Order: sequence, then structure tokens, then C-alpha cells
Amino acid sequence: FGRLKQGLSRSTGRLTDGLTGLFTKRKLDDEALEELEEALITADLGVSAAGRIVENFRKSRFGKEVTDQEVKEALAAEIGAILAPVARPLEIDTSRKPHVVLVVGVNGTGKTTTIAKLGQQWSEAGQKVTFVAGDTFRAAAVEQLQIWGSRTGCDVVAPAKQGADAAGLAFDALKQAQERQTDILLVDTAGRLHNKSALMEELRKVVRVMQRVDPTAPHSVLLVLDATTGQNATQQCKVFAEMVNVTGLVVTKLDGSAKGGIVVALAQEFGLPVHAVGVGEKAADLRPFSARDFSRSLLG
Ligand code: GDP
Repeated sequence: FGRLKQGLSRSTGRLTDGLTGLFTKRKLDDEALEELEEALITADLGVSAAGRIVENFRKSRFGKEVTDQEVKEALAAEIGAILAPVARPLEIDTSRKPHVVLVVGVNGTGKTTTIAKLGQQWSEAGQKVTFVAGDTFRAAAVEQLQIWGSRTGCDVVAPAKQGADAAGLAFDALKQAQERQTDILLVDTAGRLHNKSALMEELRKVVRVMQRVDPTAPHSVLLVLDATTGQNATQQCKVFAEMVNVTGLVVTKLDGSAKGGIVVALAQEFGLPVHAVGVGEKAADLRPFSARDFSRSLLG
């Protein structure tokens, strides 16, 4: 089982690497099930989803002789069943002017890029979209969003000076968006997780202050998670869900050497909708999340 060992030696392995050669005409006994469970955990599926899948295998196939191909097909079905309930597109309430989307997540996960990608999609669909550069302390983040604004044809509301109050900025941006009948307001936020209580206070203040303009805002709270960070993404989801009312996820960096197993762990653990996945650095690199396609690609 050299390939399995190879998979286990990495912190985040690809599921197919861990499975290839594992079930070449092999009886599905306790040992085989245990190895399967380890391969699933190594591929970032998490203890809970791995346990659920292995239990279902035990019930349906224990003691039977199985092949790699059979195991892969059965796994694709199991993973598809975990993912199906969370594969839901982000719905925009067009009666809202604007529909406010608050975008949260740790720095570097891809918040700004995801805002650009969503902005491009929606403006191409004829919506009037404005970005709010709410990560006011990072000059680079503000600049980046301004560049994306000009590339995607979306307006950008930026702070007058570095470190300006993010809540005040969001308040002004929302008022202006109402006056201009903007369809969608995408609000970028800070992501300094090393100071958790300060970040929570800032995010909650942004929400509170926007609600003075529109008591129903924000209409969506998107958490952006980086798939390459493996189980850290699970931890981030837990922390952000405690801070704000997260309504859905975007999982980024699923291109390249991406693992993707983390999406299964997230679905199993939180049950939050996965609206889209990031597959590159360009504005066009956002895909709707499909449970069937995703589970298939996971098993390569
Ligand atoms: P933020 O700090 O959360 O706003 O993160 P950024 O949007 O600035 O993204 C951080 C880095 O990740 C940038 O270099 C992006 O180009 C890159 N990035 C974002 N999304 C993706 C993705 O889906 N795939 C890849 N390969 N890179 C991405």
C-alpha cells in the first residue's frame, strides 16, 4: 500500500492518491475499512464525514470482495449525498435596492478576489454593483479592490484615509446605494483573526450600523475559505459563525494542487450552503458548486 503511505505522509493529500491500489480485489474487512477511513481523513474529509462513509460501507459491503473502481463509485455516491444538500447558488433578492452581501474571512483566503468575481458575474448579468473597501487598515486591500472595480466596471466606495472607521464607510455606502438604486452592494471586511475579539467587534459594528439604514441588511453573509489550508478552514468556519450570522460559503483555490476534501468536511460539520468555488486568480474563475461534479472530480 505504498500509495496510501505516500498519501498519509502529507498533511493534505489527494483522495485518489490515498485510494489507488488500496482495493485491488480485496475483502472489505476491518483492516481495509480502517485504511479507507485513514485515507479519507488524510484527504481532509474530516473525522465525522470519514466515519459516516465508513459506517455506510460496513453496513452495505462488509466481508465482500471489492475493487478500486467499485469503491470509488460508492465513495462518489456517498460524498455526493453529503454535498447535495449544501450545493445551493447564492440568491439575490432583486426587490432589495441594494441587496447587501457582507464578505468575511481571514486575510489571504481570497475575499477581495471573490468580490471581483461575483461583481463581474452580476454586472455582466446587467446588475448595478458597488464594492465597499471595508478592510480600511490595509492600503493594499483598498487599492486592489479599486483595480478590480475598474476592471469589472463596478463602482468602488473607498475610505478617505487609511484606517477610517469601517462601519462608518459601510453606512455611507449603503445610503448612497439606496439613493442610486444600486442592485447589489458587496462589502469587503477586515480579516485579522489574530485579534479575534477586536475583529468580532468590528464586524458586528458594521452589521449594526448598516441596519440603521436598512434593518434587513446584510441579506447575505459570505464566508470565504481557502481550500489549501485544510482543517484550518473548518476552524475558521467555526470562529466566524460565532462572530456573525454566516449564510453561505465560497471555497477558493480549488485549482492547481487543490484537494477539495475539506469541502466535504465543511458540509458534514456545518451544513452551510456552498455557493461557489474559486478556481483561479482571474475574475472569470468562479464556478457554481455542483455536488455531482465535485464528488466525481474528487475521485479523479
Ligand atoms: P483577501 O486578503 O482575503 O482579500 O485575499 P485576496 O483576494 O487578496 O487573495 C489572496 C491571494 O489568493 C491572491 O494572490 C489571489 O490572487 C489568490 N486567489 C484568490 N482566489 C483564488 C483562487 O480561487 N485560486 C487561486 N489559485 N488563487 C486565488
